[in-house]
Amino acid sequence: MKQRISVALALATALLVGAPAAAHASPLAAQSLRAAVDEALQGRSTDSHAGTHVEITRQDGDSRAFGTAVLTSTTHTDEHPEGWLFLAEKSGGTWRVALDGTAEFTDMAAEAELLSARERTAFTAEPTGLNAGGDFRTGMRLPYAVGQSWRMTGGPHGWGSGAPWSSIDLAGGDGRVLAARGGTAYTMCKGWVRVIHDRGYSTDYYHLFNNINANGLAVGEGAFLGNIGTDVTCGGSATGAHVHFGLRQNSAYVGMAGHNLGKWSMENGGAAYQGSALHGSARVYVGGALYNYGALGLTQGIVDANGGGSLNKRSGPGTGYGVVGSVTDGATVSVSCSSYGTSHTGRYGTTNVWNRLSDGGWISDAFLWTGVNGTINGFC
Ligand SMILES: [Zn+2]
Repeated sequence: MKQRISVALALATALLVGAPAAAHASPLAAQSLRAAVDEALQGRSTDSHAGTHVEITRQDGDSRAFGTAVLTSTTHTDEHPEGWLFLAEKSGGTWRVALDGTAEFTDMAAEAELLSARERTAFTAEPTGLNAGGDFRTGMRLPYAVGQSWRMTGGPHGWGSGAPWSSIDLAGGDGRVLAARGGTAYTMCKGWVRVIHDRGYSTDYYHLFNNINANGLAVGEGAFLGNIGTDVTCGGSATGAHVHFGLRQNSAYVGMAGHNLGKWSMENGGAAYQGSALHGSARVYVGGALYNYGALGLTQGIVDANGGGSLNKRSGPGTGYGVVGSVTDGATVSVSCSSYGTSHTGRYGTTNVWNRLSDGGWISDAFLWTGVNGTINGFC
C-alpha cells in the first residue's frame, strides 16, 4: 500500500513540474542516489572513517536500487572498513536509503523485486536473539579446505580496534579462502567478501587477493572466495598475506569466543590478537596450527573429557547404568535426544543433562561441547 501511494505521488509530481528530459534523468538520478547512500553512511560514521565506497549493483528503472555501501578506513591502522547492503526507493523525487540491519531495510526487502527469492528470505528472516538462550552453534567450518592446517596468526580481535572481538587472522595451507558455510555472497570492496548465512549469521573475509566478484551469488560451504592476501583497498593494514575472518550476527559483529568453527571453540586471550582454540581437551594458542575438521552439525557435539583420554558410554542416563563402550576426547558424536540423569562437572560447569547418542549409548552433557547450555535435539 505504501508503495502504491509513493508511485502515485511520484507520478503526480512529474505531471505538475513537467517530466524532465529523458537524457538528463538517468545521470541526475544516479548522482542523487549516490549522494543519498553517502548520507546514510555518514549517519553511521565515526572519526576514524576515511571515505565511502558505494556500488550500485542493481537498479530497477529509476525508482529502486540495491548495492553495497562501505565506510572506508585509513590504511596502515588497526581500523577496518564497515559495510552494509543497501536498498533504496525513490518517492516524490527523493531517494530513501535503508542499510541492512534496520527495520526499514527488512520492509523494503519484503517488496523489492530486484532481489532474488533467496535474498528476500534471508533479508526478511526474523532476527535471531543474540546468542539466544546461550546458543553458540554456527554449523561452520574454518574458512579453508577441510583436512588442512593453517596458522592462527591472530587470535580473537576486533574488526576495528575495539570490541567485540569478532575476528581471527589465518594464513597457510594452499592459501585458498573458502566459505565457512553456505549462503549468499557479496563483494563489499576489492579484497573483501561477505557471505550471509542462515540463523542470522554472516561472515566476512578481508585482505583477499584474486577474490570473486559476487553480487548475491549463492555459494555452498567450501566455495572459493579468494586467496589470502594483503589487500587494504578499503582500509586497514596487513603485514603478511592472510585472511581476516569476521563473524556477524543480525547485521553486527559479534564476539567469536565460544563459537565453534571447524570443530574448534574460540577463546579470548588477555588482549586482542591473543587467545586460543579448543578441540576436546586439545588447546592451540595463537601462532599454532588449526586443523580444519569441518563443520560441527547443529545436533552434534565434540567429546571434551576435560583433560583428555576417553569417556565411558552408558546404557542409560547415569553412572548407575552399565558401560557399553567409550568415546575418545575430541571425537564427534551425534545426539539423538537428551534426558536427566546423574549430575557431573566438566570444563564449563555442572549439569544433570545426559545425551543419547546415535548408536544408543549415553554420555553426560558435562563432557560434550555442543554450543548450547542445554539440549540440542530435544528430550527423549
Ligand atoms: Zn585481523
